[in-house]
Amino acid sequence: MTGLITELKRFDRIGLSQVASHAKACCRMVRHGVFAQLTHYGDMGTALAAVPALLPWGPVQWPAHWCDLADHDELVGDCGVHADVAAALLTRQDIPHARGRAAVLTTPHAPAHWRATWNEVQASDAWIGRTVVHHEVLRVGNRWWDPSEARWFSGGGGHLGSGRVLAVREEGGQWQLAPDVRQPPTRTAQEAP
Ligand SMILES: [Zn+2]
Repeated sequence: MTGLITELKRFDRIGLSQVASHAKACCRMVRHGVFAQLTHYGDMGTALAAVPALLPWGPVQWPAHWCDLADHDELVGDCGVHADVAAALLTRQDIPHARGRAAVLTTPHAPAHWRATWNEVQASDAWIGRTVVHHEVLRVGNRWWDPSEARWFSGGGGHLGSGRVLAVREEGGQWQLAPDVRQPPTRTAQEAP
């Protein structure tokens, strides 16, 4: 529990991911190509689900520009890119939403594996805790959308492919802990004043 609170405080220092644009053709072409493909889908659900398929999950060095996400014909996106693109799609359709974060309890070996992959390309691994990882998500109505797994989840206590959601926080709001981790901190004799 104390460990989780420490991780959440650390995650709060991670800035919201926003893909920047050079005012040049390098970024204009990539951005235009991405949205041309996504807006070609008739319905929002299909367009949102296509985001991680179009920009397969992998390490991104932040701050990132659109042209940084393209390597020849290959695109890459982490959850921050996926959330930023999904939010832009929702904004285009005037669908109210908010950016948010989730703290996900992963499988035991995942953090070490991800850290190695991110370190290999000098991308920041600040999102990887010891057992919990920071994940950017979206709040749409009373549901939460995981833009990387392209699925809805219920918030704290919900399950994602990457693990169990221990806490969620809407941007500008407070962390909401999953019901089973929402216990008052117990004070031991040593900690008491
Ligand atoms: Zn550029």
